[in-house]
Amino acid sequence: MLFEAVIGQEQPKALFRQMVRTDRLPHALLLLAAPGSGGLPLALALAQFLLCENAAGKAEACNTCTHCRKTAKLIHPDLHFSFPTVGTNVISDNLLPKWRAALAENPYLEINDWLQHIDADNKQGNINKEECLSIIRKLSLKSFESPRKIMVLWLPEYLGIEGNRLLKLIEEPPDQTVFLLVAENQELILNTILSRCQLVKINALSDEEVTAGLVDRKGLTEGQAQAIAQLAVGNFNDALKMAGEEENDQALRFLDWMRCCYKGQPLELVGWVDSFAGLGRENQKHFLRYALHFWREFLVLKTVGESAVRLREREKQTAIGMAKVVGLEQLAAMIRLLDDCSLHVERNAHTKILFLDTSIQIHHIIKNWSFYQEQQQARQALGLAS
Ligand SMILES: [Zn+2]
Repeated sequence: MLFEAVIGQEQPKALFRQMVRTDRLPHALLLLAAPGSGGLPLALALAQFLLCENAAGKAEACNTCTHCRKTAKLIHPDLHFSFPTVGTNVISDNLLPKWRAALAENPYLEINDWLQHIDADNKQGNINKEECLSIIRKLSLKSFESPRKIMVLWLPEYLGIEGNRLLKLIEEPPDQTVFLLVAENQELILNTILSRCQLVKINALSDEEVTAGLVDRKGLTEGQAQAIAQLAVGNFNDALKMAGEEENDQALRFLDWMRCCYKGQPLELVGWVDSFAGLGRENQKHFLRYALHFWREFLVLKTVGESAVRLREREKQTAIGMAKVVGLEQLAAMIRLLDDCSLHVERNAHTKILFLDTSIQIHHIIKNWSFYQEQQQARQALGLAS
């Protein structure tokens, strides 16, 4: 992967180039990257830059030499990978074909995508003892084709206490060996590992960068890409998924939901909930994220004014209409309700029951606000409120 194929992230790219140019590349670099911001793509680009035979003094690998060609296909014998797997005796090497396929499809993937890709069901990923021994074994060998050996270790958070087997190797690796660790959550990494790496923070992408990435890779129009970028909040992996959904019209579905909630006709509500329950869980999560986005913008409409609102025309008109009947306190209740709802979806609640209940409560918030408040007070008195 070339640096130019990585969306945005000009700062870390410049830093990596400079480290290589001035021969100050540490032997263990930890990329602490916000989810979907491109930690793994950056590590792959840096690996290719380091392995390319024509990159000296350049800003980019040549992409044509044998090393570049092999690195691009993730089959360079001096480029090693380690990542979470499932099962006691499974090591990364057993899953390399799947790893290559997953990265070719989407290098912005996150742990859940990977676990799904290897059919892990609900099992937790792990970087186990055998994998640590395998890393030590591989890096103790001479390099095959390049002067350098590179180990890309994805998600050191999944290294348990076994990870301490790697300390000596990370601290004093064999000559010309580079560790590139790509992590998301600093707090979950063993301190012993953390303290032996040089840390580089990779920030979430800007809306503009996500928009440009979507237009470039998915052929979306600027408007479609912007609408998705606003929901993706800097996570390009999420953005790609949303772009893949048919006619991503979360907005239309949401407006329809609000219409049903407002009217409060039981049959209509049940109909909406039935059709909603047919969407996959991922889609349902995106829908809720959209709903929260809508209400956030609604707050902007109420407090700052129409010009600052990031909604498309039709949604904006609905928001303006609703502003007449929904006050700030009602809005706060709505957001609390949707937050709770998202949490229950994460915990695999029964979709139909959850959304029917949420819909009825939204109806009360909009139409019977005082009734809703009394109900909440009663719940609190009974210790039922969250
Ligand atoms: Zn090259």
